[in-house]
Amino acid sequence: MGLLPKLMNVAVCIGCGCDDLHACWDDNTQQPCHWTRVDYNIGRGVCSCCEDLVSEWDSGCREFQVPVEIAVSDVPA
Ligand SMILES: [Zn+2]
Ligand SMILES: [Zn+2]
Repeated sequence: MGLLPKLMNVAVCIGCGCDDLHACWDDNTQQPCHWTRVDYNIGRGVCSCCEDLVSEWDSGCREFQVPVEIAVSDVPA
């Protein structure tokens, strides 16, 4: 993922949760993903596998879009 700055800042993709050290595989390009949008100040970005979220990002959204809690908890209504 290119040169890392001295502080080892790592950004996490808000779409799939991959980060600089754990890139996911981009089926479209047959290469590891890269950042389409990234902000190391907040440690978040949108990788090339999650281009659907670029418009969200550009409209100001920096929240994780991964439904992590839904996947692990099965609370009855
Ligand atoms: Zn992603
Ligand atoms: Zn990725």
